[in-house]
Amino acid sequence: MYGNLKSILKTELAAAKENGTYKTERVLESAQGREITVAGPPSRKASAGRSKKYLNFCANNYLGLAGTELLEKASEETVKRWGFGLASVRFICGTQTVHKDLERAVAELIGAEDAVLYSSCFMANVGLFQTFFGEQDVIISDELNHASIIDAVRLSKAERAVYKHMDMVDLEEKLKASVGKRLRVIATDGVYSMDGDIAPLKEICDLADKYDALVMVDDAHATGVMGKNGGGTPEHCGVAQRVDFVTGTFGKALGGAGGAFTATHKEAADYLRNRSRTYLFSNSLDTAVTGTSLFVINHLKKHPEFRERLWENTRYFRELMKKNGFSVPNSQHPITPIMLGDEKKAVEMAKALFDEGIYVIGFAFPVVPKGKARIRVQISAAHTKEDIEEAVEKFTKVGKKFGVV
Ligand SMILES: *Cc1c(COP(=O)(O)O)cnc(C)c1O
Repeated sequence: MYGNLKSILKTELAAAKENGTYKTERVLESAQGREITVAGPPSRKASAGRSKKYLNFCANNYLGLAGTELLEKASEETVKRWGFGLASVRFICGTQTVHKDLERAVAELIGAEDAVLYSSCFMANVGLFQTFFGEQDVIISDELNHASIIDAVRLSKAERAVYKHMDMVDLEEKLKASVGKRLRVIATDGVYSMDGDIAPLKEICDLADKYDALVMVDDAHATGVMGKNGGGTPEHCGVAQRVDFVTGTFGKALGGAGGAFTATHKEAADYLRNRSRTYLFSNSLDTAVTGTSLFVINHLKKHPEFRERLWENTRYFRELMKKNGFSVPNSQHPITPIMLGDEKKAVEMAKALFDEGIYVIGFAFPVVPKGKARIRVQISAAHTKEDIEEAVEKFTKVGKKFGVV
């Protein structure tokens, strides 16, 4: 009987609408890209409800590869060569040459001995902690870690400890407090999605050495982006050989469709293939994503200009925004928060920018701490110099209206 659940859901949904946490999905009528077509809101008026073009500054499409003909073609060729799907898990009859090739390419990119493919980074995280860590062990996790790490930790039987965001003094306290455990693992995002701040992996690895702990980095926002060769935050921080587990996604910079991996030591990868439940009991990564991700990794080796353009665009945007009086933290990542403080202003300003044809998202409490409301801008290699100048011009126009600059 649905009745009871229905009344609970109605109350909960109404409450979410009341406190501003209700999510409405905007519907795209185009492929992903620097410019997208967004369906207009449904309206009885014939003139309203028309779709409109927007400059897109809110995708994780850092290298500008999502939605491109280049990847369309690569995926077509892959599907022609390897078929559409396997109807099997990897260990029965679902491993093709292309899966092995991609795992080798990922391991090389990250600087690990081996890599294991997953359907998503969420599943890679879930399939990691419960496989390696049990009741005798402890997972020490940054308080702002991604939801998938939080849930993954909950699904393991290990004890958990949480340290203050990027606070190395607190991390050391937690390490000291866990002496006597069989295994200890420090878990961190490589890049935090709200601020674009980069985890201090050098310091984390030093503490891990001092206290005999393992290090796990979820590099979803950094694989293909950070590091000279796109190896992610471990490469950027010079600790690629000292991180034990790197999880990452093909669903952001590396094409945007989906799919993910865990890059790790040889024995650990072997053990994942034998024991990791989200790997063993879930279908092989689909052929189009597997082949296209392999294409992307190889393509980026020959074309550093994707990453170069991304960093140029990021620097240009940050510089222009600061020059125009906006508060931009001194982080470096293409995730660029424009700090506004006031909850309402952040949300209203994002709406006003949308009306001006600039698609950005405002974040307010409880997604970010009270008083730290912001508009998050995500820069892409696909943006042109003119796109960035137009965004800054619209930001300035709207910012003046809201008394921000
Ligand atoms: C986006 C993201 C994920 C989820 O990746 P999927 O491959 O889409 O499941 C996991 N962790 C972090 C830190 C992320 O930013």
